Parts: sequence; C-alpha cells; structure tokens
Amino acid sequence: MGENEQKPPIAAIGGGPGEQVNGPAAGNALNGASSPGKVPVDPLAAIVDVLRRGERFLVCSHSRPDGDAVGSMLATGMLLAQMGKRADLVAADRIPNIYRELPGAEGIRIAMRVHGPYDAVIMLECDSVERTRLRGLEPFFIVNIDHHATGQEFGAINWIDRGAASVGELVYRLVRAAGGTVTPEMATCLYTTILTDTGGFCYGGTRPSTFELARELTQAGADPIRIAQEIYFSTATSKLLLLGAALSNLKREGRLAWLWVTHQDMVRTCAAEEDCEGIVNYAVSIAGVEAAAFLRELPEGAIRLSLRSKGRVDVAAIAARLGGGGHENAAGVTLEGTLTRALGEILAELRSNVSRLAHDSGEGQGREAT
Ligand code: 5GP
Ligand code: MN
Repeated sequence: MGENEQKPPIAAIGGGPGEQVNGPAAGNALNGASSPGKVPVDPLAAIVDVLRRGERFLVCSHSRPDGDAVGSMLATGMLLAQMGKRADLVAADRIPNIYRELPGAEGIRIAMRVHGPYDAVIMLECDSVERTRLRGLEPFFIVNIDHHATGQEFGAINWIDRGAASVGELVYRLVRAAGGTVTPEMATCLYTTILTDTGGFCYGGTRPSTFELARELTQAGADPIRIAQEIYFSTATSKLLLLGAALSNLKREGRLAWLWVTHQDMVRTCAAEEDCEGIVNYAVSIAGVEAAAFLRELPEGAIRLSLRSKGRVDVAAIAARLGGGGHENAAGVTLEGTLTRALGEILAELRSNVSRLAHDSGEGQGREAT
C-alpha cells in the first residue's frame, strides 16, 4: 500500500494541521466523527487515545539525531510494542556511534522516504515536518510532541511542553498515562534523553523534577555510570582531532566567542558529522563569554551553525530569525552561502543582542578581540 492509500479513518481525527484536537472529537477519532466544537483537552489524553485506537505507527524525529531524538524514539517504540502495536522507527541520518548501544537502536531504519500505511506518525522533537528531512509524511495524521522554545503547532495533535528537560521526559509521562511499564531498557533510553539534553544536568532546563525523574529511571534499571561512559568517555579520535582544528580557529570578542571548521578540516581529520556535537560548548565555557557560535562548512556549500548561551542571550530567537530554532540557551540553523557570509550574519545578530543586554543593564561593552 502506498503512502496515499493510508487508512482514512485516523486521517480524519480532530482536524488538520495546527488544530488542537478537541476532546470528544479525539474520542471519536477512529470513527471519523466530526468535531463538535473547540473544547480544549489534555493533548496527552488525546495521544493515549490515538495509540490505543491505532494499529500501526511511524515514530520519527529530527535529522542529525541527538540523544533526545534517539532515546525518545526508542522508548516510544517500546511503549507501542508493549501495547501490541506495530511501530516503524525511521531516521533520515545515521545514529551517532555513542547512541548505537542503546537498547533497540539497531532497529531504527535509515531512509529518505516513508511509506504507509500508518494510523499516525509520532513526531518527536520537531518544529516542522521538514525538520525530519523525511519525505512522504504529509498525508499522515501527525502527533507532534516537542519541548523546544520554538515549537510549532503543525500537527493534528500538538503536545508542546517547553518546561520539559527533554522530549524523553514527555515520553515518560506518555508511558505512565498509557499504563505502560518502564523496563530497564526503556529507562536506559529515557535517562539518556535527560542526561544529554541537560548537558549532564548543567543547562537551564534542569529542575528538581529532572533529578526526580532521573532517580525514578535509575530505580527502574537505568545505569547512570554505564550510560555516562557511553556518552562522555567513548570519544572517537577523529573528534579530538577535529576539536583541535576548531580550537585553532577560536576567536573571542568581549562576551562573545566563536570557532569553526572547514570541510577540508573534516576531511583531514576523518571526522564524521557527529564529531561536531559539543564543540560549541568549548567556546561558551570561557569565563565571561555569554554567547558562542560554532560554524561548520557542509560539503554542499551551506553552513551548519550551533549557538549556545549561558546568560541572558536568547539564541532560540536568533536561530528562529535565521530560519532555525531550538532552546533559549541552545539552538541551531543551516545557512546558505559561504563561511565568511554566515559568520558575518551571525556575528551581527550576536553583537546587537549582547550590546542590547549591556545597554539594558547600564554596562559598557569592552571589545577585547583575541
Ligand atoms: P545543536 O546545536 O546541538 O545542533 O542544536 C541545539 C538545539 O537546537 C537542539 O535542541 C536542536 O534540536 C535545535 N536545532 C538545531 N538545529 C536546528 C535547526 O536547523 N532547526 C531547528 N528548528 N532547530 C534546530
Ligand atoms: Mn530535546
């Protein structure tokens, strides 16, 4: 069956993209009942209903998957399996080595296009369908689960909780609401989502509830030491060589710092895409730096940009203005054009943000280029 021949009933659930599912309509979802009006309901309850009523699901996340994307997909797949459902887990890019040991990771299929039939697509961590880089998703009933500041209500059901430390935290709540069991394998995947998205319990989204969840997941069988070993002590040599190249390009200007690698640097160090993860943190780790950027030249000519802040600079807003998105303190975007042009564009944004902050707080902004 092709993707245009998906089962019609679930496609009729609760209205089109951007529309929150209404209570009674969600209840009648698989019967194709029409919506009786805007009665806002708990999207979590609506999602549980969709999972119970459907049979076959696609689970996906954003391209260049990170720990939250991989861990959330795997845990969602485990929940669906517990419920006796079929779940295809699909990603557009390969799974980084440090997440390949996660339980079930070998079951994630890498593809550019998806084919139905699916009763619903569970889309995790994405602010648009395009963010998955998967083709063929448009006809399906999309359940959008996200926690980004720049999250958008593009799905048929939208559960966006910007206070969650990771989408895995939301998947945990979904498992509980659906009556699922948090197995040691699932706990391992979910713990990974929190650990990586909070940068090891360091970033802004870390709250008392984050530690509470980490405690529950460890009690359920997640091994924090083994997981940390896989993520923080399994670095590829190529990553350190690439880091060396990036650090040799480190620039500092007052509260800003930036660094970059060229495509040539990537080739010379035999680096993979995943080796770029975390390089930006070295720039933002500098004392007195409030915001940092890492730029990577892509082989096709565009530039991948990673932004981080540790103070009051809202990098999600900056990334969103340039066509990307993320969180207040961690965001990204792909820019067309050369490295020089992308650097000019992002420095203009960052400088004006930082000087506005300095102005608002009545400080002068020292420019100590190094
Ligand atoms: P990173 O810099 O590690 O690639 O991404 C930091 C954060 O920004 C992550 O939460 C990631 O999902 C988000 N992000 C990175 N690149 C993009 C992008 O191109 N578009 C959107 N919408 N979000 C992005
Ligand atoms: Mn996340």
